[in-house]
Amino acid sequence: MTSLWFDSRSETGAGITTDPFEPDARYDEVVVGAGLTGLVTALLFARTGKRVAVLESRSIGAVATGRSTAKLSLLQGSQLQKIRAHTYQSIVQAYVDANRAGQEWMLDYASSSGVAVQRRDAVSYAGTAAGVETVGREFRIARASGLDVRLVDSTDLPFETFGAVVLTDQAQFDPLDVLTALAADVRALGGVIVENTRVTGVRASDPAEVRTSRGTVFGAHVHLTTGVPILDRGLYFAKLRAQRSYAGSYEVPESGALPQSMYLSVDAPSRSIRTVPGAGGETSTLIVGGNGHPVGRAGDTQRLVDDLHEWTARHFPGAVPTHSWSAQDYETPHRVPFVGYLPRGRGRIYFASGYDKWGMTNAVQAALTLFSDLSGDSPSWAKTLHHRATLPAAMASGIGANAATGWWALKGWAGVLAGPSTDALPLPAEGEGLIGRSGIHPTGTSTVGGRTCQVSAVCPHLGGVLTWNSAETSWDCPLHGSRFAPDGTLLEGPTARDLRV
Ligand SMILES: Cc1cc2nc3c(=O)[nH]c(=O)nc-3n(C[C@H](O)[C@H](O)[C@H](O)COP(=O)(O)OP(=O)(O)OC[C@H]3O[C@@H](n4cnc5c(N)ncnc54)[C@H](O)[C@@H]3O)c2cc1C
Repeated sequence: MTSLWFDSRSETGAGITTDPFEPDARYDEVVVGAGLTGLVTALLFARTGKRVAVLESRSIGAVATGRSTAKLSLLQGSQLQKIRAHTYQSIVQAYVDANRAGQEWMLDYASSSGVAVQRRDAVSYAGTAAGVETVGREFRIARASGLDVRLVDSTDLPFETFGAVVLTDQAQFDPLDVLTALAADVRALGGVIVENTRVTGVRASDPAEVRTSRGTVFGAHVHLTTGVPILDRGLYFAKLRAQRSYAGSYEVPESGALPQSMYLSVDAPSRSIRTVPGAGGETSTLIVGGNGHPVGRAGDTQRLVDDLHEWTARHFPGAVPTHSWSAQDYETPHRVPFVGYLPRGRGRIYFASGYDKWGMTNAVQAALTLFSDLSGDSPSWAKTLHHRATLPAAMASGIGANAATGWWALKGWAGVLAGPSTDALPLPAEGEGLIGRSGIHPTGTSTVGGRTCQVSAVCPHLGGVLTWNSAETSWDCPLHGSRFAPDGTLLEGPTARDLRV
């Protein structure tokens, strides 16, 4: 499943060739991960003359950023009330201020780098009568946090809605345009971006030792901007919930009638809607996202993609799907991102995660935080977010998430032990993956593109039994969200290891 953004570019991510890996090289800042967080972090340090290396296990933007719907908005569905339900209004205010700083930085950057941005209203709408209360609550909290929102009774969407909150003059873009510009700027300032280089471990020595699939490099500081942190120090993988979700792009006849704002439902079914301008400025492409679920726990995922297409065809007659894709992002118990130093990292290892599908602003505020903390000049919103207290509601949410993880761990192993041996299974049909056991060891067999592969179906992170993701033909871990290709190659998640073959 290729995103609309990648399809117009070469296969090497944002279309820029990788820099060479230099074993034993020493840098001031080693940034792990070339998504939006990593590249903004790299640029901020490179601008002050630091020697910067970005190490990327796949290619620029390959994981979440290149598959985002890329709305740059301070009105974020019903996000503010989710945060308010788990913490104080002062934290909501700091979150809004942080996102405002992230948005302003990005708009300035896009303007000075020639990256195309479309200004659009953001609309959080109720798709059911039950959602009206949520809309009202979001309006009140957004207002109390200084956002100039307004309430409307109806929208220009071609289906019934039950009122909405609107914030004018937000923005959208093509996320790979932004990454391409950032990568070029990092390189122009002497930074290197090395793709196909997986970081497998970091020792908090002085300088920190960064072990990779291609050798070791050293850095005064290491920034883990890897989506979920790849090191288990601080057990952040257990505090984050990996949520996968789907998107489709559609060519629409009579495109002049397409609604022009950026929409997000506040109730189920969750739907994110935006348009994409064509080369001549006309709008003929629609993007619809939704049907999210915890990674590895959805059963037949292809049905979720099909459902998105059916829903779009119903509400936008004649819409023809051109692409469908999927991505995951991470949710914290209080819905505020984690940004800062990693425990037991001796002040050398930093990380950022937990943007809850609002990374276009949050990745930038996280990068600004990482940079300003090390420069000794943190903005007041960053200080407030750093000193956030964990309230019982957030603790309860964390406990609930871990209980669910424990249940999935048991369910996976019990299912395998009670199930057939691998020898007794039929050869999987094209696009199918089956779990069996060799003795008591779970084994996954799949057929994709005519090739049958057999791998260990046990996640190398913490031993969860993997499930088959039919939409993306991958093995996904229901515990903490690691994902693997049919041949066992790691795609994403907290582990740094492939599956045993
Ligand atoms: C379906 C969907 C739609 C979204 N839409 C929006 C939206 O409209 N607006 C919005 O604000 N946000 C949106 N988001 C959220 C946003 O896309 C993400 O929060 C953001 O892209 C995360 O950026 P990142 O740099 O942290 O992660 P990523 O872009 O995932 O970058 C992390 C990088 O680290 C690399 N990496 C991982 N492990 C290693 C390792 N061991 N060694 C080296 N490299 C490694 C990965 O390969 C990856 O390239 C959406 C998210 C999803 C899932």
